[in-house]
Amino acid sequence: MTEGLHAKQALSAFPPSFPDHEGSAVRRTIYDQDHEAFRDSCAAFLAKHVTPNLETYLEEKALPRDFWLSAGAEGFLGLEIPEAFGGAEAGDFRFNAIWAEELSKLNAALASCMAIHADIAVPYIVDLATDEQKQRWLPGCATGEILTAIGMTEPGGGSDLAALKTTAVRDGDEWVINGSKTFITNGYSADLVLTAVRTSPDKGAKGITLFGLEATDEGFSRGRKLDKVGQSEADTSELFFENVRVGDDRIIGEVDRGFIYMMERLPQERLTCAVSNVAHAKQILAETIQYAHDRVAFKQPIGSLQHNKFLLAELVTKIEVAEAYVDQVVLAHTDGEATAIDAAKAKWWSSEIQNDVLDHCVQLHGGYGFMNEYRVARAWRDARVSKIWAGSNEIMKELIGRDLGF
Ligand SMILES: Cc1cc2nc3c(=O)[nH]c(=O)nc-3n(C[C@H](O)[C@H](O)[C@H](O)COP(=O)(O)OP(=O)(O)OC[C@H]3O[C@@H](n4cnc5c(N)ncnc54)[C@H](O)[C@@H]3O)c2cc1C
Repeated sequence: MTEGLHAKQALSAFPPSFPDHEGSAVRRTIYDQDHEAFRDSCAAFLAKHVTPNLETYLEEKALPRDFWLSAGAEGFLGLEIPEAFGGAEAGDFRFNAIWAEELSKLNAALASCMAIHADIAVPYIVDLATDEQKQRWLPGCATGEILTAIGMTEPGGGSDLAALKTTAVRDGDEWVINGSKTFITNGYSADLVLTAVRTSPDKGAKGITLFGLEATDEGFSRGRKLDKVGQSEADTSELFFENVRVGDDRIIGEVDRGFIYMMERLPQERLTCAVSNVAHAKQILAETIQYAHDRVAFKQPIGSLQHNKFLLAELVTKIEVAEAYVDQVVLAHTDGEATAIDAAKAKWWSSEIQNDVLDHCVQLHGGYGFMNEYRVARAWRDARVSKIWAGSNEIMKELIGRDLGF
């Protein structure tokens, strides 16, 4: 810690809780006692196994396998995995949401890496894989011995998924895969990458198939860990496929139906992002409110200066309103009723609010807000990507606009 910095407001500040407005009838109602007990387990696991190691993760620009194995041993990786394959089979997305919230409160990169594995990639296997494939992959996914990633984006483009260029060409009983992916979360350490590949050259979105490619497959290689502005703890990398030969036993679901499978599952990815966006900003806002009580300027706490008081009032309101909407989409998704449009709204709105709130939190910290020792500075950097990934906010608005008939 740099001499002279306000140590108690820096990395060790976690966790003050969000101020509760006494007497308010507006409460989060989507979680019951079981969910809250699970939240306590998540927080206890993170305090014991993760918080002490966060600086190491940042230095190594990766989450070590020990992190995954310890999370697997406590059952946190298998919420979506059937018990028969070693999972918890929770069958209630609110548990996923709580886990995402607790991770995000501590560190945004943890939440995104975990979500890619447990909430995004694994469900494709659970829903679409053959029994043999499930037996091959799911037990390891539950323990953390098999780490997954999802490869959709290519150097030539991510938004226009239907235009992807990585190809699989039939050769006898095998498929020969050539191409590359980029920006792949967990890509550097994943054992299994669910990879979107063109199998029918002239069929656009209707010519894409999902393959389960393993890191040990000949011709599969990774580029360097990409040097990101934020979320450096997350390993993000390019992947290259040079004459990777696999059989039909690596196809996830049916040939040429990959685009549909992705469209069906992207709403859960976007909703998980939304949950994380709100929880991440809410936690840092709580820490900033504490800072605004403690930090004195002109003989008074900076939060008492009218501009800052009004600003904090606005930020608290924005977060609570965003959370209320996201909670409703979580509930609808738990009941199997949330639409892709609901998830798109939750994703773009929550990421705008997250970035808006965190930018103001940096400002309220003054110069300390620009210091890497401070959680607020790191959170601000970490948040920027949430407007870009999982379908950029422009693509979310495109979907919502189309739904309006335009
Ligand atoms: C840290 C990080 C992690 C990621 N992890 C993964 C991962 O695990 N797996 C994976 O597959 N991908 C991943 N991505 C990729 C991410 O999903 C893409 O970056 C995103 O979809 C945008 O694609 P692009 O970068 O190719 O931008 P482009 O598609 O080239 O878009 C450039 C700009 O044009 C805008 N634009 C594009 N089309 C339209 C349109 N129709 N209307 C209006 N504006 C438009 C976009 O919104 C954007 O602002 C990750 C990205 C990052 C940065």
